[in-house]
Amino acid sequence: MGMAKINPALSYEHCLDYVLITEEALQKRIAEMAAQIDRDYAGRQLILICILRGGVVFLTDLMRKLTLSHQIDFMSVSSYGVGARSSNGAPRIVLDLNTDIRGRDVLLVEDIVDSGITLDYVLRMLNTREPASLEVCVLLDKEDRRKVDITPRYVGFKIPNEYVYGFGLDVDEVYRNLPFIGVLKAEYQ
Ligand code: 5GP
Repeated sequence: MGMAKINPALSYEHCLDYVLITEEALQKRIAEMAAQIDRDYAGRQLILICILRGGVVFLTDLMRKLTLSHQIDFMSVSSYGVGARSSNGAPRIVLDLNTDIRGRDVLLVEDIVDSGITLDYVLRMLNTREPASLEVCVLLDKEDRRKVDITPRYVGFKIPNEYVYGFGLDVDEVYRNLPFIGVLKAEYQ
């Protein structure tokens, strides 16, 4: 028994169960989050760190709604085996930051927190570099799936335990460009 394979040559619609969060709802919530970050970090020198690749769409929308001046940097962490759609194995740093974060106010921007294992690993690693502050801003939170104790400071939406895609999140590396969040049909999960 395995999951059915998606056909990446087909439109995203063939594997869409339903739209969970519309483009309008995403943009409205991201604007609210940006306003909150503007208030919380006023007068400070913020650096946003995006974990590739899923977080990139959220980052680019969030940063364009911030009025606070800020820097960005990227890192890439692999945590999932090829073709697997659930956490397995230890995370690994594939691409590290260019910026020295010692003494800096750092906000980690992530697409989704599921078990929390990836974020927990990244937070521990970044904390050894002694930033002035280190907080998490996550668009989607699958709270029920948490295996380690992670409490993001900013959460866009709490979502049920379903495999979602769009807005940076992939199905087998495609459909990241969709402006909404969809739920994958059960036969593909
Ligand atoms: P965690 O370590 O919290 O279990 O996993 C976090 C990572 O798993 C996310 O950054 C994301 O890459 C992936 N992930 C978890 N749930 C989903 C999901 O529903 N859809 C997609 N596309 N990726 C997911």
